[in-house]
Amino acid sequence: LLQLAAPLNFIGFVYREIRQGLTDIEQMFDLLEVEAEVKDTPDARELKINAGGVISFKDVHFAYDPERPILKGISFEVGAGKTVAVVGPSGAGKSTLSRLLYRFYDVQSGSIEIDGQDVRDLTQKSLRAAIGMVPQDTVLFNDTIAYNIRYGRPSASEEEVSAAAEVAQVGDFIRALPEGFQTKVGERGLKLSGGEKQRVAIARTILKAPPILILDEATSALDTTTEREIQTALDIVSKNRTTLVIAHRLSTVIGADEIIVLKNGQIAERGKHQALLARNGLYASMWNRQQEATEAEEYLKKVRESD
Ligand code: ATP
Repeated sequence: LLQLAAPLNFIGFVYREIRQGLTDIEQMFDLLEVEAEVKDTPDARELKINAGGVISFKDVHFAYDPERPILKGISFEVGAGKTVAVVGPSGAGKSTLSRLLYRFYDVQSGSIEIDGQDVRDLTQKSLRAAIGMVPQDTVLFNDTIAYNIRYGRPSASEEEVSAAAEVAQVGDFIRALPEGFQTKVGERGLKLSGGEKQRVAIARTILKAPPILILDEATSALDTTTEREIQTALDIVSKNRTTLVIAHRLSTVIGADEIIVLKNGQIAERGKHQALLARNGLYASMWNRQQEATEAEEYLKKVRESD
């Protein structure tokens, strides 16, 4: 039996390797498919950040499928170094805004400009080099934590990687791992929680140090400590950077320079937190509901703790 076990193990190993290879290839094709939607024009220019990275959406219309318009005339601006938060019901088109800014797709009409340059006239390379994207769920490479953070700037030194982890509030967590920064993560390594992965993505972005930031907050509930840590990391990374946040958490929204409330592909309300609450409209009802949910959760937690 023992004699059989070794070859079986080996077959298992080969099978897993092949399967992993396929997953990687599938992911690559997924990416290619998305990227193939847009192409550089023959005379595409390099993006020049010459006014601090002002983002302007000008009467943007967009549909994935022509039969079903998703964005219907969206106009707003994120001033240099400012933060605009987009909120709204699921399916309203929030993440679509970030995909258009990163130019995974092109607008059907209207335009998106950065410092007055239409993103369609720019090389995708220069556009994406200027934008740091912290997605909802970061896919980590099957490699070490250090590799995953350094991906933001491959030339970064060990000290810089570790400093970025510190700022991203994930340094203590990494140092407590048996192999520290050399711990393998991803599908074949240590599985990180959503909050941990998001902080690794923030550390990566800190190293990249882009003038523009897109944050797509996770919808999943985070415990209070994790939420506070992530918020601290995000506050640091978004300071003096033009930031577009797809927001799900109250803490992010309260501090935003402007909140855009998206509903059915249109801007239903816009303004600062207090002013929107005072309006007693869609925003106020969304946040009252969220607050009630948070209070109920905290109450349940206390009851459980006292058991
Ligand atoms: P959530 O808060 O649930 O993440 P959202 O406001 O970010 O929602 P989007 O992801 O922007 O919503 O999606 C807007 C609409 O576009 C949804 O109805 C969605 O089904 C549709 N959609 C998103 N991606 C695609 C796609 N690749 N192809 C076709 N339809 C899509």
